Amino acid sequence: MDDLTQRDFLERVPPGAKVCVTDLENADRQGTVRYRTPDIELHCTTCNGTRFFAFLGTADYIGKRESFKSFLSYYCRNCRRCQKSYAISGTYEEAANKWVLYKYGEEPAFGPPTPARAITLIGPDRDEFLKGRRCENQGLGVGAFVYYRRVVENQKGRIFDEIIRVSRHLGADEALIAELEGAKTEVQFTKATEAIKHAIPQSLLINGYNPLTLLHSALSQGVHELTDEQCLEVANSIRIVLIEFADRLAQAMKDEAELNDAVSRLANKKAG
Ligand SMILES: [Zn+2]
Repeated sequence: MDDLTQRDFLERVPPGAKVCVTDLENADRQGTVRYRTPDIELHCTTCNGTRFFAFLGTADYIGKRESFKSFLSYYCRNCRRCQKSYAISGTYEEAANKWVLYKYGEEPAFGPPTPARAITLIGPDRDEFLKGRRCENQGLGVGAFVYYRRVVENQKGRIFDEIIRVSRHLGADEALIAELEGAKTEVQFTKATEAIKHAIPQSLLINGYNPLTLLHSALSQGVHELTDEQCLEVANSIRIVLIEFADRLAQAMKDEAELNDAVSRLANKKAG
């Protein structure tokens, strides 16, 4: 069991794990010992970034080192609106002379948030994707991989429609559009990506790589050939590429719109 601080336990430990917390006991000026409730750093959905969260209320007394179960409420120090709740329990292990903490759950769910753009790209499979996310957060590699693969396979048409929309918008080669349209009718995502021979627009590349090729290489591995840990790595890559890709697609449309605005403003100026 890892030795962690109370702050690490709250910020970094997924529900379902037991850890030793080394700095749990916190005596006030009168010498009353309560569990520690440090400020923590989390993503705030209201502020849309990482912010400090402060504990709200009074921590339970643990001076007699009796086992406890507790709900902890935190709120964002910046907007004072976004909240975070934890359900935890603690047991003092005499032999080891340590507090062992267990996290039952937290709300909103553990882990970094999934950007809205990625959710939009995935559409109807949002729940499946978030289940994959939950597996990934808890280190369940096979589960995460299977959920993500299912999302990509199910939403293949949607992903291709989006690439076609953006490619058209960017004035891509008609041959590429035709290939993309054809690929959409393939049953499997890997088969569909293999059918595309023309280069996709530069602005959709991720570090110079075609995101479809990246997803293809992740998805073409069989779950039975990989260990749980390898599945977790692949699942992690699929999620990162999907999120990044959703971002590129949205950004490409935005950049183009801004460029058009700028051009028409200047053109009007000249005409005026
Ligand atoms: Zn906030």
